[in-house]
Amino acid sequence: MGRWGWRLFEGDQDFDIVISISDDTLGIKTGQWEYRLSAMVHQSDMLAPPEAAVVYRTAEYAYELANVIVPYIRQKLNTSNFGERMFAASRAKESDPDDLFQESKYRTIILGALMMRAGARINTADLQHLRDLVPQINCTSRHTLFNDHGFRAPGRAQFLAALDHYRPGVARSFQAPSCFKCGNIEEDIGRKLLQCKKCIVATYCGKDCQRDQWREHRVSCIPPGQRRMLNV
Ligand SMILES: [Zn+2]
Ligand SMILES: [Zn+2]
Repeated sequence: MGRWGWRLFEGDQDFDIVISISDDTLGIKTGQWEYRLSAMVHQSDMLAPPEAAVVYRTAEYAYELANVIVPYIRQKLNTSNFGERMFAASRAKESDPDDLFQESKYRTIILGALMMRAGARINTADLQHLRDLVPQINCTSRHTLFNDHGFRAPGRAQFLAALDHYRPGVARSFQAPSCFKCGNIEEDIGRKLLQCKKCIVATYCGKDCQRDQWREHRVSCIPPGQRRMLNV
């Protein structure tokens, strides 16, 4: 299992963690919910089979996701402090000394992203904890054979921007294009993002971020016709 996408929830690694959180890794079962946590993120174009990807692009699906699925999960997470208890359970597992790749900490990050995706309530201590975790998590700007775990670089910026803009009750999209440098999405800046003309993958909120990030981006800026592997 590896990383197949740039941003949070685009890779099967992230998706596996979402599934494990939905099951009983934290000792808190959400599998019997009408919509599981994964229902908020499984529409990633990179992972979905073609027939599902078609459905995920329809206006009907977008409406259902925004008005039925996400509010349902938000309400579930907010009831009886369910989300808060999930954070407590995940945080309690972070000190495992055998966890060389900080997978437990990254799980708390993914849980935080799911909570923000739903617009669920996150208390101040957990928000701060999420900020404190970010620098402890491995982050790579492209595919590597070893050490390929944790954030892909735009995913980290995307996560930090989501924390900055977090408001309870407001669902945060992690599928929307985000600036590869600062992580902001269209909703944050009030205009569409620019796309790197060479690779057609990287997106930026403006010329400044694009220029600032070029040295890091140039190694993975490959035109579509020249990409040899899907894994980024
Ligand atoms: Zn930016
Ligand atoms: Zn590029």
